Amino acid sequence: MPQGFSPFPVTLDCAAILERLPVALALVDADNGHFITANEAFRESFGNPRDSFTHWWQAVHRPSSSASGTASAPTAPDSSTRESIESDMYGIDGSLHHMRTQVRPHGNHLLICLTDLTDSDNRQDLLRQALAEMETRSITDPLTGLLTRRRLEEASLSEMHRFRRFGHPISLIIADIDHFKLINDSFGHPVGDEVLVEFAVRLASECRDLDVIGRYGGEEFVILLPSTPLAGAFTLANKLRSAINQAPFDPVGPVSASFGVAECIAGEDWNTWMTRADKALYRAKSSGRNRVVAAPESAFDERDIKHRNRLDRLTWEDGHCVGDPVIDAQHHHLFELANRLLNQIREASPPADLHATIRTLVQATSRHFRDEEAILKALDYPRCDQHAKSHRILSAKLDALSSQSALGTLPTSKLIEFLAYDLVDHHALGADRDYIPWLRRAPRVEESGAPD
Ligand code: GH3
Ligand code: MG
Ligand code: MG
Repeated sequence: MPQGFSPFPVTLDCAAILERLPVALALVDADNGHFITANEAFRESFGNPRDSFTHWWQAVHRPSSSASGTASAPTAPDSSTRESIESDMYGIDGSLHHMRTQVRPHGNHLLICLTDLTDSDNRQDLLRQALAEMETRSITDPLTGLLTRRRLEEASLSEMHRFRRFGHPISLIIADIDHFKLINDSFGHPVGDEVLVEFAVRLASECRDLDVIGRYGGEEFVILLPSTPLAGAFTLANKLRSAINQAPFDPVGPVSASFGVAECIAGEDWNTWMTRADKALYRAKSSGRNRVVAAPESAFDERDIKHRNRLDRLTWEDGHCVGDPVIDAQHHHLFELANRLLNQIREASPPADLHATIRTLVQATSRHFRDEEAILKALDYPRCDQHAKSHRILSAKLDALSSQSALGTLPTSKLIEFLAYDLVDHHALGADRDYIPWLRRAPRVEESGAPD
């Protein structure tokens, strides 16, 4: 009896309780092995037991039609085995029950306790089924049968792992149906669904077994292409585009799609890779749809494109002033030199002209850095050394660019990168703003004796 529990009151009618317990119980004479009695739950499942427990045990373990005594039954438990036995038993109505049998000695008797596990087995089967179904659903898109976004992302991670380990190229294609909303609006959602299914079939028909195709969401599909460099992915995307174009979709007519393609770059994660492909898709959409656009092969090229599109000139604004006339005049001058270079790049000026401007920029930058450092020193600007260090890094970069330009090997994209990002964005409009408070509270630089 566990501590803290009082025994059942002796006045309780134990026989009545045992009779009504929802667990099948029977009492067997330990000497001759014959049943003495069985409770209601036992009788309901197995009838009124007669003669010996061993005989009953054999009988319940074989279908009633089989030859008696020949069907194999597990060894009947005896009172020396405190372990329970699980087995399938036939009830009086012929139904099969999965039962747990325990035998406990009690004086001259053996108490047989049978627990029906059938229901819990069924419940577990149902649970298992439901889990399997959920798993399938999370892997497969129910409409198209393609992989879901989640599964696709998982597959991409293992492919990227292979890419990192063995250097096999991998590319991805994002396909997005053009003006799909219009299809839904004109023909209804169910027809839209049919188009999605047909679209998926056409994509799959052009892909290899190795390729991983998924529905990424709505009318957007992603295809992962193991062992495929950008050029191969681009070719495949165009084949897919043709497969969509080649025949009308019943009943909506011609359908087209736009495609973004990107090859995974070393060091890139899934999100940045996807983002590059997505940007390429965006460009395919914005440049007229029904086309394939490949993402630049590196983040650097990506910025290069941004520059080419957006960086025609750098605009000097009053807000760029730091508050020192020398520094502001020099910054303004550097902007003008940068603009001269941008103009020369745009107009494809002779390399000698470009190099001459670069040399002027090298000189102007070096003078500016020297003057700025002197001003900051006079101000007791606490991050003077750090600032001077960033100047040295920029100077070294600019010298390297200048040498390349002298040799005629300088990619213009690298020069734009330096002008826009390193010199202007990060330095003149970035790091240089850090010392503004020192300029404001200090005496004017002219008075401090700084060189002009
Ligand atoms: P764009 O050419 O720019 O891609 O235009 P779009 O109309 O294709 O793109 P938008 O994102 O405006 O619309 C996508 C539509 O796809 C809206 C949404 O209701 C529909 N859609 C998303 N999932 C399903 C789906 O499972 N079945 C159907 N029939 N329509 C869907
Ligand atoms: Mg679309
Ligand atoms: Mg879309």
